[in-house]
Amino acid sequence: RTRIFSGVQPTGHLTLGNYLGAVRRWAEEDQHRAEALFCVVDLHALTVEHDPARVRRLSRQAATLLLASGLDPELCTVFVQSHVAEHLRLSYLMECTASDGEMRRMIQYKEKAAAQRARGGSVRLSLLTYPALMAADILAYGTHEVPVGEDQAQHVELTRDLAERFNQRYGATFVVPRTTLPAVAARVMDLQEPTSKMGKSHARTAGVISLLDEPEVVRKKVLRAVTDTERDVVYDPEQRPGVANLLNVLAACTGGDPEQLAGEYDSYGALKKDVAEAVVETLRPVRERHAGLAADPSYVDGVLRRGAERARALARPRVDAAFEAVGLLPAR
Ligand code: ATP
Ligand code: MG
Repeated sequence: RTRIFSGVQPTGHLTLGNYLGAVRRWAEEDQHRAEALFCVVDLHALTVEHDPARVRRLSRQAATLLLASGLDPELCTVFVQSHVAEHLRLSYLMECTASDGEMRRMIQYKEKAAAQRARGGSVRLSLLTYPALMAADILAYGTHEVPVGEDQAQHVELTRDLAERFNQRYGATFVVPRTTLPAVAARVMDLQEPTSKMGKSHARTAGVISLLDEPEVVRKKVLRAVTDTERDVVYDPEQRPGVANLLNVLAACTGGDPEQLAGEYDSYGALKKDVAEAVVETLRPVRERHAGLAADPSYVDGVLRRGAERARALARPRVDAAFEAVGLLPAR
């Protein structure tokens, strides 16, 4: 059976970008057609400056939102990365497989390192080695497909390289996984800064729609989205990124095609109004289910406990095999 793995970091409130780029597909498609594992990747959240209490709170919130988005623990495995030690064990072997040069080439590293430095902070070493841990997350499960947004495709590409290199050096151990992207909205842009990706850890939130934003807040953010000084509605991601982003979001929420949708509008105002309503309707069931689940944290904890047990059992044999393959003496 096809295996699928993906995750979200508890670095902020889950966004519309996370939902349209990744989580919605996990719920609507992936969990129904494959053996799927979805993870709150809390260790990755420690690669940038963090507040311990906030990471803990956001981890439970992220897990709750994954369930609210429709992940069904009867169909898939939902768990927290740090509960399964195999990720850390394998991550070291990935660091011993990767070169420092290929880590430094990662766009996310360059961007997040620059952001940390701009804030006057230092760059954690783990931010550089992040892709090794992510490769371990994926490879530990014999994953075939990794459903992510476009921004993570480079990391999955590196994961493929590492899997192939490891297999070549030490014998067939890992499945070489591939990225799957959504048909539209693979990269939802910030509404205030439509040349950068919408991200949950951004400090300014006017351009970021959170899954838990009240409908009124969602409407306000969409109506204030930055566009351009043209008048006609045309789908041109290069020249007119703000409008293209709105069309992509509308297409993702309504199942349409962004270029075709552009032809149906003759003003930005009308477009924004429809985008706002489409987003509100798309997020409504998630918000509603979240309210119910958040009232029952022990249910969520139980899901995570069973998820971690199952994940551990799946990862253990492959990670043990990798340890043996590189020449480590098995503990008997
Ligand atoms: P951070 O700013 O902390 O990196 P993030 O919003 O990028 O947060 P992640 O936890 O890094 O969220 O990513 C979770 C998933 O959501 C990944 O599959 C990622 O590719 C996807 N994703 C993140 N942002 C977007 C976006 N703007 N559009 C589409 N997909 C996205
Ligand atoms: Mg990210």
